[in-house]
Amino acid sequence: MVVLIDLHAHTLASDGTDTPTQLVVEAARVGLDVLAITDHDTTDGWAEAASAAGERGITLVRGIEVSCGAPSADRLASVHLLAYLPDPDDAPLVREMTLTRDSRERRAERIVEALARDVDIAYDDVLAQLEPGATVGRPHIADALVALGVVVDRDEAFERYLHTGSPYYVSHYAPDAVEAVTLVLGAGGIPVLAHPFAGKRGPHLDESIIEEMAGAGLVGLEAHHPEHSDQEVARTLDLARGLGLLVTGSSDYHGEGKVQRLGSRTTHPDVFAALLERPHATPVLTP
Ligand code: AMP
Ligand code: FE
Ligand code: FE
Ligand code: ZN
Repeated sequence: MVVLIDLHAHTLASDGTDTPTQLVVEAARVGLDVLAITDHDTTDGWAEAASAAGERGITLVRGIEVSCGAPSADRLASVHLLAYLPDPDDAPLVREMTLTRDSRERRAERIVEALARDVDIAYDDVLAQLEPGATVGRPHIADALVALGVVVDRDEAFERYLHTGSPYYVSHYAPDAVEAVTLVLGAGGIPVLAHPFAGKRGPHLDESIIEEMAGAGLVGLEAHHPEHSDQEVARTLDLARGLGLLVTGSSDYHGEGKVQRLGSRTTHPDVFAALLERPHATPVLTP
């Protein structure tokens, strides 16, 4: 029997477009056995996803995609650290996520202020695009631009207005990527670096930072990802081999927000077993 495992997916708790229940329904539809919910900087979707997964016999891996920063050649690079099965009440982790989410709100307001000089948009247009309490991100500003008829989809919004080199771009607070590895481990979580080389996302991540993260206890690298070219996959595999890290694959599904379908990239069952075996991890898999 083939076991299908997708360890990276988003819901309305951050910038996905499915409810946690809809995400699990989609997982069942595409035949996943194991699904991780990994919203940006929040655990808000966990409870609903867990009950939906329990009803359908899908193993839910509770996760977070932790926003981080790392110094790079020209400016701070944005780094995404997947954290599997952390304690959602771990005080340092909760503190960092709260700081990041608060900063994301102020930053979204500032991006809209800048945009409003050239486009007829107000922050209320963005608020209309997200669930109360959801982690706000540029995708919600993109959705507002779509609703206003300025662009046709998120992709065009990023290309024209929201990419990191754009004059409207503003960054937000995020913990340092190496310190975040320690933070996740301290919360009993399993840290895996998401899409290390996804090219279109702004400044490239230095390999020396990934080495430092490995030194701090990073467990794996997400090599198979829709935004990795064949060369970027190969580079990630080389790096993982050199550093003795596990290699995962996942779709980074965002519902209607991105083209990639759930289960379009998967993680090998042996890798999943090895992830859970790590001595520092205290996995809790039951709903
Ligand atoms: P933020 O976290 O607010 O900096 O926004 C980054 C998020 O935007 C990422 O998590 C991606 O999911 C999303 N994103 C980046 N580029 C695009 C794009 N071209 N189309 C749709 N979503 C994108
Ligand atoms: Fe996202
Ligand atoms: Fe990401
Ligand atoms: Zn993601």
